[in-house]
Parts: sequence; structure tokens; C-alpha cells
Amino acid sequence: MATESKPLFKRVALLGIGLIGSSIAHAVRRHGLADEIAIHTRRTETLDKARELGLGDTYFSDPVAAVDGADLVIFCVPVGANKAVAETIAPALRPGTTISDVGSCKRVVINDIKPLLPDGVHLVPAHPIAGTEHSGPEAGFAELFKGRWCILTPEPDVDADAVERVAEFWRRVGSDVEIMDADHHDQVLAITSHLPHLIAYTIVDTATELGGDLQKEVIKFSASGFRDFTRIAASDPVMWRDVFLNNREAVLDILGRFTEDLTALRRAIRRGDGELLHDTFARTRDVRRGVIDAKQA
Ligand code: NAP
Repeated sequence: MATESKPLFKRVALLGIGLIGSSIAHAVRRHGLADEIAIHTRRTETLDKARELGLGDTYFSDPVAAVDGADLVIFCVPVGANKAVAETIAPALRPGTTISDVGSCKRVVINDIKPLLPDGVHLVPAHPIAGTEHSGPEAGFAELFKGRWCILTPEPDVDADAVERVAEFWRRVGSDVEIMDADHHDQVLAITSHLPHLIAYTIVDTATELGGDLQKEVIKFSASGFRDFTRIAASDPVMWRDVFLNNREAVLDILGRFTEDLTALRRAIRRGDGELLHDTFARTRDVRRGVIDAKQA
């Protein structure tokens, strides 16, 4: 294992510099994890903003130039954009390079990127379970990953040293690292993250469909529970569109179960079955205590 003071990588190339990319840039700088941070992003105004914020050492509108000489390349774009970016950079990648990402779904990352990689290039997909509802290069901060999980989903045949270096990278930015099969990751995240976002988007959208005065009162009295949903439902629409398009099976499976459970609660309300309602709410209270105990509150 590398020592804390020595950079882990010579050149880290960040492809995409939104909330997650910029947070990685801050964290790499703060913890001295690389000699050079090379930044690429699609739009000139985003690249200019990254430069103005001093997020990197070098800035490129061409992704091929950004990955040239990089020993770690991290895709920080929406999941649906990975494939096109990988097609552009793949011919320029040299053996020994490690490719990683931060996407919220993991099987699709392997399916989209792995077939394009030259021999000797290691793919170690990663998902930091950390975020906010904010987007763009100004939104990032070095502490985002501190005390949060980062799940790695390398295929079993991936070079063990590359996996360990990516794991050490995330440990050094303050995360706890877990290694998991990509399909399992997608099932777990469907319930812990994707379904809650879908519910939040639905509740807020339902409220916005309400007529006149009722809609105004929803905003006025939002502190009674609605407010927390509005925060989640303010998350980036492109990112979340891509999550649902790319984790379709797992989300549909969990949505089916959720719909059944919701129907059961609806029936309990209609029938005046207070016992069922109380038992359900008492069970969920215990889950909250578990989350607090696991320091994930
Ligand atoms: P973000 O703040 O919206 O930034 C997105 C970045 O990707 C920008 O640099 C943007 O470039 C670029 N981009 C957008 N669409 C693109 C396209 N079609 N082709 C090429 N580049 C494109 O997003 P983020 O929140 O950092 O999310 C990035 C990744 O992190 C996503 O895969 C997401 O699933 C994952 N993630 C997010 C969170 C979270 O809470 N936000 C948490 C964990 C993981 P331009 O501005 O130059 O167009």
C-alpha cells in the first residue's frame, strides 16, 4: 500500500467537471493524490469556469489530449454519455492506464466501456455514495466523500493492483470502500437511491399539478414533510434520466414491490385498519435507528 505522503498517480484525467468531478479535483489536490490534474469537459463555458476556480493543472477541450499520459482516467459525466466519450478516447489509451468512473449504475458502465478498451487497460468502476442536489463545477467540495461509502465493481479478472490503487484513492479522500458485483450494486441502489428519487420526483410533480390556492399552500406549508422531497426532486434531470434508463430492470423490479406495498397501505386506510398502519410505521422507525447507528444519517 502506498504511503500517505506520496501521490498515488502521476496524472489524473477527469472527464467531466460537474459536482462529482470538481469534488474529486478538490480532494485530489487537498490530499496530494496526483502530480497533475488534467481536466476535460464538453462545453467551453464549463471548462472556463473550472479554470477560473483553479480546479486543475491543465485544461483540455479535447478528451484525447486530457488522457494523454494519464495513469488514472475518471469518467465524471452522466451515465448515458460514457459510451461516446469512451469511443473517442479508447484508441489513445496506453497499456497500464486505469479507467474508472463515478456513475450511479454500474452494469451499464462495464457493458459500454469495457469492449472499447485496448489490451492492458484496467477498468475499475466506482460509485461514490455521496452527492447533493447541486450541479456544475462550482458545486464541488473536497469533503463530499468523507465518511461516505464508495463501491467498486471490478470484474473478477481485473488487475488486482489497479483495483487496490483505486480503492486506496477513495480511502485517501476519506471514503470507506466496498467491492461488489455490478448487478448486485444496481439492485441495492435501486432501493436505497433510485426509488426514493423517483418517489420524490412524483410527489413534487403531483403537487405542481394541483390547482391555484392548494398549490400555493403546498409551498407555504412545505416544512411539514414536502420540503425534503423538493430537495431530492431538485437533483439534476439529465443525471437522473440516465439512471432510470440505465438501471431499468432493477428499478422496475423494486417499483413492482413498492406498488404492491403501497396498495396494501391504501387498503388499510380505506378499511380503517389502524393495526396494520401502526405495525408498518413501527417497523420503519427501527430502520431509521439502524441508519443512525450506521452513521449514514
Ligand atoms: P453535473 O454536475 O451535472 O456535471 C456533469 C458533467 O458531465 C459536466 O462536466 C458536463 O459537461 C458533462 N456532460 C453532461 N452531459 C454530457 C454529455 N452528453 N457528453 C459529455 N459530457 C457531458 O453531474 P454530476 O452530479 O457531477 O454527475 C456526474 C456523474 O456522477 C453521473 O454519472 C452521476 O450518476 C454520478 N453521481 C452523481 C451524484 C450526485 O449526487 N450528483 C452522486 C454520485 C454519483 P458540460 O457542462 O461541459 O456540458
